Amino acid sequence: MKTIGLIGGMSWESTITYYEVINTLVKERLGGFHSAKIMMYSVDFHELEANMETGNWDGNAEILTNAALNLEKAGADFILICTNTMHKLVPQIKEKIHVPILHIADATADALKAKNIHKAILLGTKFTMEQEFVKDVIHDRGIEILIPTEEERYKINDIIFNELCLGKILPESKAYYLSVIDRLTKEGGEAAILGCTEIGLLINQKDTDTPLFDTTIIHATAAVDTAL
Ligand code: GLU
Repeated sequence: MKTIGLIGGMSWESTITYYEVINTLVKERLGGFHSAKIMMYSVDFHELEANMETGNWDGNAEILTNAALNLEKAGADFILICTNTMHKLVPQIKEKIHVPILHIADATADALKAKNIHKAILLGTKFTMEQEFVKDVIHDRGIEILIPTEEERYKINDIIFNELCLGKILPESKAYYLSVIDRLTKEGGEAAILGCTEIGLLINQKDTDTPLFDTTIIHATAAVDTAL
């Protein structure tokens, strides 16, 4: 079994899910007392959030590169960055490390392809919905991406940072997310990518008929596939 390196804490609310899903799957697949070999570097999200606010992405690249180097030094065979948004910095981090990074959007594109999805709704932070670092990876695999309107993106992003990353799960926010998914499904979306690792704390497949692709579960599952 390979050792999985997790860069977590963005936010720690969703890193819990990674730890739980990875261990559950290893136990399911290997049985008995088996559990995953995991090393985690959990950052102080306050610093990263502040850097996002001011646009100091180089500062975030430095924090995450340091985390990745520590995991590499400690013996991680490969690394997961447990957030979609920070995948913006993968090219910079990759330059400084030797172990591979398991990219969240690659794993998501694989999952969408496996279910034959051609047009998917993308929900996430404003950075993930508006910039190219996740969208391009999926689009390059032949899948069209639908994103919410500017007003919807603002509210979706606000709910992520002011509620979900702080552990607040509110029914009105759940209803809002579901209404956006519903609207974009009527516009041709065949599935919805939960492209922020906290969205799965708010909604799940029981809440909607639109197939959901939760990037946290997909990424954690890909980690187990790679580790075993
Ligand atoms: N966890 C979130 C994501 O998947 C947002 C927090 C962050 O900015 O890293 O994008």
